[in-house]
Amino acid sequence: MNTHSNQPQLIDRFGRAVTYVRMSITDRCDFRCVYCMDEEMTFMPREQVLTLEEIVFLLRTFCELGVEKVRITGGEPLVRRNVDWLFKHVGELKKTTALKELNLTTNGSQLTKYVDSLVDAGLDRINISLDSLNPERFRQLTRNGDLSAVLDGIQAAKTAGFKGIKLNAVIMKGRNDDEILDLARFAIEQGIDISYIEEMPLGHVTHQRNESFCSSDEVLATLQSELTLQASIETTGGPARYYHVAGSRSKIGFISPHSHNFCDSCNRVRVTTEGRLLLCLGQEHSMDLRSIIRANPGNSDKLKQAIIASMQIKPKGHEFDINAQPIIFRHMSVTGG
Ligand code: SAM
Ligand code: SF4
Repeated sequence: MNTHSNQPQLIDRFGRAVTYVRMSITDRCDFRCVYCMDEEMTFMPREQVLTLEEIVFLLRTFCELGVEKVRITGGEPLVRRNVDWLFKHVGELKKTTALKELNLTTNGSQLTKYVDSLVDAGLDRINISLDSLNPERFRQLTRNGDLSAVLDGIQAAKTAGFKGIKLNAVIMKGRNDDEILDLARFAIEQGIDISYIEEMPLGHVTHQRNESFCSSDEVLATLQSELTLQASIETTGGPARYYHVAGSRSKIGFISPHSHNFCDSCNRVRVTTEGRLLLCLGQEHSMDLRSIIRANPGNSDKLKQAIIASMQIKPKGHEFDINAQPIIFRHMSVTGG
């Protein structure tokens, strides 16, 4: 049984407790989604990327400091070799640390291959990205993705019976905004949730982001033309607002960094593929944890001190502006979505 104290130990200058870590385990991916990556990407040299052992060590340290929720993301986490080993060892932290929830964000392409090991590791929730139900358009938006593999992945996740399955859809004007309702109907049919994400200005991409930008309010208005939505009081401490769909089990979420500010209740930090602790998705305040891990192998005291000290530089909030792109030169694939 986990007897770990639930007292949060990571408190920032504004009194916010950090209990949630999003860990990017690779910047590589088998897709090249138009809003996320450029057609040609230069990926990080392997020696700069945290090893799987270093990632487990880092996550253990966070969970010993009161972190209760970990989300593994990327890039595409399931293209990293031996990712099943990583999940097994992070899942075991639930027995010895404050960790209560282990989650994954994936594009779904490799899910049929890994679903059993994810179940064995005790994965709780899974977010699967899906921006179109049209195979040709899906291929264009991802620049090479196979929709049928992703749909098979969604079925595999349903069969596995995770606590929560949620689709993530980035809506872009003129690209997939005509599928807002179809994507919601698909989620409802499947009995799973869906979140609509506003495109964020992270890294250089080929298109003009302010031309494709579609606000959550516009998505909500489209959905309300056909569905009855009831606002939920549920909050995750993140940028999402939720609605219940009348007559269904599905929830619809909106992740709206531009139109709705969520920073006051922020409970999270991110760690990039190369072990940089990012205190805010929309700012550059960060701390290099990799050098601390590599200078003090196996010794978590120095790492704990650094993580606690980093709380002093967590900024009050982000300053995204879709018209002044790119503000942040990191791609989402490096930061971890
Ligand atoms: N490869 C996995 C996936 O696609 O789900 C995990 C990483 S991906 C970076 C995480 C999420 O970030 C995805 O739902 C993706 O749609 C979203 N994303 C990527 N770039 C974005 C951007 N510029 N603005 C908003 N969302 C973005
Ligand atoms: Fe890959 Fe996910 Fe980025 Fe798409 S959104 S390119 S699947 S990391």
